Amino acid sequence: MLATQPFDDDHPHEECGVFGIFGHPDAAALAALGLHALQHRGQEAAGIVTYDGEQFHAHRAMGHVGENFSSKDVIGRLSGHSAIGHVRYATTGEVAMRNVQPLFADFEFGGLAICHNGNLTNSYKLRQQLVRRGSLFQSTSDTEVIVHLIATSLKLSVEERMVDALRQVEGAYSLAALSQEGLIAVRDPLGVRPLVLGKLGDAWIVASETCALDIIGAQFLRDVEPGEMIVAGPEGLRSSRPFDHARKRLCIFEYIYFARPDSMVDGVSVYETRKRIGAELARESHVPADIVIPVPDSGVPAALGYAAEAKLPFELGIIRNHYVGRTFIEPTDQIRNLGVKLKHNANRAHIQGKRVILVDDSIVRGTTSTKIVAMVRQAGAREVHMRISSPPTMNSCFYGIATPEREKLLASHMSIEEMGKFIGADSLAFVSIDGLYRALGEPKRNAKTPQFCDACFTGDYPIPLVDHEAGRVSTQLSLLTETV
Ligand code: SF4
Repeated sequence: MLATQPFDDDHPHEECGVFGIFGHPDAAALAALGLHALQHRGQEAAGIVTYDGEQFHAHRAMGHVGENFSSKDVIGRLSGHSAIGHVRYATTGEVAMRNVQPLFADFEFGGLAICHNGNLTNSYKLRQQLVRRGSLFQSTSDTEVIVHLIATSLKLSVEERMVDALRQVEGAYSLAALSQEGLIAVRDPLGVRPLVLGKLGDAWIVASETCALDIIGAQFLRDVEPGEMIVAGPEGLRSSRPFDHARKRLCIFEYIYFARPDSMVDGVSVYETRKRIGAELARESHVPADIVIPVPDSGVPAALGYAAEAKLPFELGIIRNHYVGRTFIEPTDQIRNLGVKLKHNANRAHIQGKRVILVDDSIVRGTTSTKIVAMVRQAGAREVHMRISSPPTMNSCFYGIATPEREKLLASHMSIEEMGKFIGADSLAFVSIDGLYRALGEPKRNAKTPQFCDACFTGDYPIPLVDHEAGRVSTQLSLLTETV
């Protein structure tokens, strides 16, 4: 068993990251760097497809970007002035090479590579319809549904076919595609997943987050708007709004945990937002204490905000080992239970005899929190008060974030008090939903027209859960198993 089994660290998992570039002689190398900056969004597999004016070139592999795209040979083979790339954490479709993106297909209009961050909520239904009409699927990924819808569209141009295809899908998607004409990027009508537009010299770039622009010194131009299609080609950039207008519902969890703290998401600093959530937490639920300690790394900005607001010292009371590899073998249950200690260790000198405020971003199943609280106690803490910079996670995500089924979420079947006892803390508090919205500059959550997707906290799903409500399971559709 691998240490990176889904949810082994008891966080919701990042979904995927996309990158696209048009008009640069080093397109593949820049795509590899961009994907490296987006590695936190998916660590299972990575892929890049380039186009050199005559041919498409692809390299896809299981593992990290650095492991697979650092050699001159690989980058040299990916010739061309345009590229798209993808890092993947499987949310739909099992982990296998055939699901690694970008996917590529030859159509009657030419070749098209496509990659996608998000999750389609009616992909199973569409897939069944397509299979009945004769489509032969090569992967179990929901992105391939888009490929087949493009193939079966009767529209003429690749752009029209993509719009035709995307009008049939429900769900969250920020996608990048590469055709012989250029780079195409689309963000779903509600803008659930982020996507930004940038420029490097004369080259156009799209990426899931601004940190992928920063790494290559590209200029951030703006966010791709919800429902916007962007086409970058030899004539420059074109933008259109081919979908019905909908109210924006960006995933609020991007600010809490998924996005990198140095990214700007929809014009808002992720790092500053996390600090403001920490300050809200301190205002809402402070108890007398001596120090504030983050659960690293994701709890750090919120803990900084908490400590500043509560006027308490901030200490790195838990040290994270950054070298726990993804292939660390845990051969027995006993050893597996040591998992958290592989990653975290208490900084005893700063904990002994103290009343500790421990700040983390979320509690999913409660396994990590339980171990961390016990570890801080063993290091001599007098009291341990857990503060969480999100409201209780009570519902699963169907829009591209890997979360366990609802029943496995601690908050779905326990009160906050029960959860506090379960993890062994002296007290437990979560930021309120309005506190979270305040940290994002809103007076409060607008119950009638919420400003963000917050369904994992509120159960208010902005996009119909077509497959889920019909009891369809959108994974494991193939009879083929594959060794990777
Ligand atoms: Fe984000 Fe939660 Fe909405 Fe999923 S359900 S998109 S994690 S806010």
